[in-house]
Amino acid sequence: MPSALEVSYGLDGKSRVQITPTQSTFFERQQPHPVQVVWKEWHGHKLPLFFDEATEQPWFTQDDDGNIILQYDLVASAFYLLSGWQEYYGKDRDPLGRFPYRASQQSRHRMLTKPLVNYYFEVLREAVAKAYGQPLAPRLWDGKPFATCLTHDIDFCQSAWKVAGKPALQKGNLKLFLQLALQKFTGKDAWFNLPEVEKELKKLNALGTFYFLPETAPYEGHPNADYDVASPALQKEISRLAAAGHEIGLHGSHGSGLKARQLRTEKEKLPASVAGNRFHYLRFDPVKSPALLEELGFAYDSSLGFPERFGFRNSYCHPFRLFNFKERQMTSVWELPLNLMDVTLNHPNYLQLSPAEVLPALMPMLEEIVKFHGVFTLLWHNENFSSYGMEAGLQLFREITEYVQEKDTSFFTAAQAVDQVQKI
Ligand SMILES: [Zn+2]
Repeated sequence: MPSALEVSYGLDGKSRVQITPTQSTFFERQQPHPVQVVWKEWHGHKLPLFFDEATEQPWFTQDDDGNIILQYDLVASAFYLLSGWQEYYGKDRDPLGRFPYRASQQSRHRMLTKPLVNYYFEVLREAVAKAYGQPLAPRLWDGKPFATCLTHDIDFCQSAWKVAGKPALQKGNLKLFLQLALQKFTGKDAWFNLPEVEKELKKLNALGTFYFLPETAPYEGHPNADYDVASPALQKEISRLAAAGHEIGLHGSHGSGLKARQLRTEKEKLPASVAGNRFHYLRFDPVKSPALLEELGFAYDSSLGFPERFGFRNSYCHPFRLFNFKERQMTSVWELPLNLMDVTLNHPNYLQLSPAEVLPALMPMLEEIVKFHGVFTLLWHNENFSSYGMEAGLQLFREITEYVQEKDTSFFTAAQAVDQVQKI
């Protein structure tokens, strides 16, 4: 295989693989959603195409010189999804300023757990293999078929006695309340439990990523951290985790996705080695956040998942670069898509799955990640490793991680996973 593959976007009459560009003027009109979608089958999978008009042609044809002509504009469809076009030009926002799942193409076409862009690239890959007469070898993760990033947003470290204790007291469970309060006042709140999270990671032989929230003041009535990241107790935790090889990242507070100064102040409260960010409540602003993350020199962000559902918000199961619409170019910042947040599973506004329903529900998504040699990014809050978090929190974390181990994953920190992709 030659080092430079000849793939041209447009019919140049000479490249080994040529992609027929769309005639659509969609990208000049700045509308959020394509007008029409056509569906075409690919090895038993129906794939939507956003910028093609008919599907009678085969996926690709061969010209007289043996060059392969791809008949559909998969590049335009992939760009539409990866760039977050629908989020930038769409006006829908939830009360926290987030782009809602229900307004997405993924919801409209029920394809959130299908990484469509990976399917498009698979078509392209087959075209290249055909043009060059040999298959392209898949890229693996330290020799394993896929990677898993275990990540932990640290919102609460010292209020289990209050948050979990209050309902206990209301239900008349005085014993539980006293137990939690006692833990608190002897200096060990049930959620000051990072060593327990570490213990679970160690069992898996995995290094994790811990996003710390340096803002304590509530924002427009929404709570930020219940701890002071500068306190000796927290600094000790951060040093210990970092020394053990875990990654420390920033958990940008409410509103920081819109405000460079706020985000910078927060970043400066953490070790200088911090490379990544995830916004608290996943409050990534589709218009402002990409440029802001680039301005502050972040190597990556990992906020792009829908809080309402698990799956692929940008229809892709590998890291990709965030797009700056104003500059009309990719930023230097990578996005490590977030596939599953613990809260999504049981929150009253979200899925409300029982513990027994969780793993079977996740399997089809995980299968896709394995198939495309992608990355599974999981967010499990520290409080859900304790008995005072979500129902069966620790058990579910173990079930999910055991399952990915059975599927032969390798574990990476978020920054390592992004590095790995850049190396290739
Ligand atoms: Zn958070």
